[in-house]
Amino acid sequence: MTAFDYDLFVIGGGSGGVRSGRLAASLGKKVAIAEEFRYGGTCVIRGCVPKKLYVYASQYSEHFEDAAGFGWTVGERRFDWKALVAAKEQEITRLEGLYRKGLAGAGAEIFDTRAELVGPHEVRLSASGKTVTAERIVIAVGGHPTPHEALPGHELCISSNEAFDLPDLPRSILIAGGGYIAVEFANIFHGLGVETTLIYRGKEILSRFDQDVRRGLHAAMEEKGIRILCEDIIQSVSAGPEGRRTARTMKHGELVVDQVMLALGRVPNTRGLGLEAAGVKTNERGAIMVDAYSRTTAPGIYALGDVTDRVQLTPVAIHEAMCFVETEYKNNPTSPDHDLIATAVFSQPEIGTVGMTEEEAARTFEEIEVYRAEFRPMKATLSGRKEKMVIKLLVNAADRKVAGAHILGHDAGEMAQLLGISLKAGCTKDDFDRTMAVHPTAAEELVTMYRPSYRVRKGERVA
Ligand code: NDP
Repeated sequence: MTAFDYDLFVIGGGSGGVRSGRLAASLGKKVAIAEEFRYGGTCVIRGCVPKKLYVYASQYSEHFEDAAGFGWTVGERRFDWKALVAAKEQEITRLEGLYRKGLAGAGAEIFDTRAELVGPHEVRLSASGKTVTAERIVIAVGGHPTPHEALPGHELCISSNEAFDLPDLPRSILIAGGGYIAVEFANIFHGLGVETTLIYRGKEILSRFDQDVRRGLHAAMEEKGIRILCEDIIQSVSAGPEGRRTARTMKHGELVVDQVMLALGRVPNTRGLGLEAAGVKTNERGAIMVDAYSRTTAPGIYALGDVTDRVQLTPVAIHEAMCFVETEYKNNPTSPDHDLIATAVFSQPEIGTVGMTEEEAARTFEEIEVYRAEFRPMKATLSGRKEKMVIKLLVNAADRKVAGAHILGHDAGEMAQLLGISLKAGCTKDDFDRTMAVHPTAAEELVTMYRPSYRVRKGERVA
């Protein structure tokens, strides 16, 4: 019999929190979990899931156009934003219900309240004011879009949180940022018929990705009609006529739009969580510091997912939760593996990637082989769409291991998942070469690029 109310108290009902709570409860532990907003967290409620649904919605405009090349006549088209928002709401409510059901089914106690630490093993539930104790506490409270308070007029801007539920579809939008969220939403809004401008401070969008897919996506987005302003920033936002917004930019003058959306990164939700009272230390970005086993600086307190700012991705939070349970409740110390994480950007066209960029590989290895194919996807031949697919493999010449794979084009995310397995398994270029192609697919390029396009030796490109 433990002296605590619970074996485990989880703060935060998102991907990492729910997984750790549900698994621990299913092992017979006495578990409670608290969530102040909606179970499912960012991913289910205002992130990955609704985003992907909106990506699908936004793709229909191109599907209708492309159909003509295949003999179809498509009639009058109309888009109903409110119908999409309502359908999305229904789906995320269903998923939220499944999360709750999974927790309850495993025997966890579910609280709908904010919870804060008040001591090393103590949590206060804001709704009731009650304090409970737990042997172990998991903090999995996620993050929120950076409000960019230094920007005059930032309070007139929206973030991805609001973008999903705008009462009306804007006629025009200015999106600040060049990362995942900015790029994905620029494509969503454009596809839904919104006049879309992206403004990014750097030379090229998606700074952490391979140059080829960055350039290729930039060109494809401009070809569609999305305006991209690089090496520029918004200096202020003010209320314009008829509820519109006037954004003053450094280089491109004033832009008057219906909405300004900031997508400038996400910050951990650590404010007001009682971390100091419990002895949990944060870093300079406010993220909870953890060791290789997600242990914070306070014994018995663990942190998972975006609040630790290791890698802000749903599957990573889930993996960290599973490692926590393995370590603490199954006597099998398991440290999360953050190496070679495959990821996708749901831009249009999509990006799928795993491993090093060309720059990273060239810095890391004495010599690399670069295999690169750029081609018109088969569907584009009849649709007439001017789009290019890019497939790129980076190989360490010394051991022939594939160190990076990058794809721009349809279903790149799906391909990245499978490439993730190959790279994780340490496959060499020879393994790729002896794999039979699946024909006719775009992915067959991955196994039919027999000769390097070029090599990079000691950082210098050679033939
Ligand atoms: P990102 O970190 O991807 O991008 C932030 C962008 O904002 C960068 O382009 C950055 O520029 C720019 N920026 C940051 N600060 C400023 C500033 N002060 N002024 C101007 N520009 C600025 O963050 P997101 O908000 O797009 O997404 C947050 C996280 O969520 C991502 O890192 C990702 O892990 C996750 N996510 C994953 C998705 C997926 O898997 N498909 C989808 C959506 C989100 P610079 O590059 O120059 O630093």
